[in-house]
Amino acid sequence: MIWRWLKTRRRRWLLAEPFPSSWLVYLERNVAHYHFLSPTEQAKLRDDLRIFIAEKNWEGCGGLEMTDEIKVTIAAQACLLVLGLDHDYFSHVKSILVYPHGYRVPEDDGTGTLVVNEEEFLLGEAHYRGPVIVSWSETLKDSRDPGRGHNLVFHEFAHQLDMLDGLINGTPPLENAQQRLRWRDVMAEEYQSLIDASGEGRATLLDQYGTTNEGEFFAVATECFFDRPVEMAERHPRLYQLLRDYFRQDPAARCRQKRQHRDRSAKIDEEAERF
Ligand SMILES: [Zn+2]
Repeated sequence: MIWRWLKTRRRRWLLAEPFPSSWLVYLERNVAHYHFLSPTEQAKLRDDLRIFIAEKNWEGCGGLEMTDEIKVTIAAQACLLVLGLDHDYFSHVKSILVYPHGYRVPEDDGTGTLVVNEEEFLLGEAHYRGPVIVSWSETLKDSRDPGRGHNLVFHEFAHQLDMLDGLINGTPPLENAQQRLRWRDVMAEEYQSLIDASGEGRATLLDQYGTTNEGEFFAVATECFFDRPVEMAERHPRLYQLLRDYFRQDPAARCRQKRQHRDRSAKIDEEAERF
């Protein structure tokens, strides 16, 4: 109880300080999704990422020197995922490990000797009640240039949401039996149709890595939901609506609003030019 009170007090103190101006530059330059949020959402994201950054151990690996820019870019995307949820800043994730690029992990060859398997080249990992590991170059590419349906940070933190109930099965903790039933139906149907499309060699909006298992399917669907929301809402409406109700965010509506705003501005510029 006292521990929780101290934590709340520490967070309040932290948020009483002004938001560092250099962090705002990193956010605006590196996190394209930030520009799609309303001013209220942006303010909440700025608060959330400060607490997230303060409460994690950040470690550069493979020669990478940890910087505030790296922390802000990763934290903003992790916190965007849970912007609409009641959450505790992924408190079960104590450490974020960052490599400059993809990395190879040594594996036990069965005799107790660790060997580096040339095939095992990773961009990221999420461990149960353990660290999240990501490649910085991949993270930055996804973050600055969205719309390809890939986002490493969304992917790994979706796994962390999935693991909150102790199981890696593509189903995070849900609110009630009705939501669980709906989740099971929609996810099972969409997972199977991705497997079918992959088997028939058809191109899909969802990354076919999602056919690996239900856990990967949820992670891949989450990437697509935030990164290609308009296409997902059109081509997978039931899946989109399920994730919209779960995350309590509507990124497709945000994109449409942004496009309308851009089109209106372009029209105004065009008319101004005529005069
Ligand atoms: Zn995964």
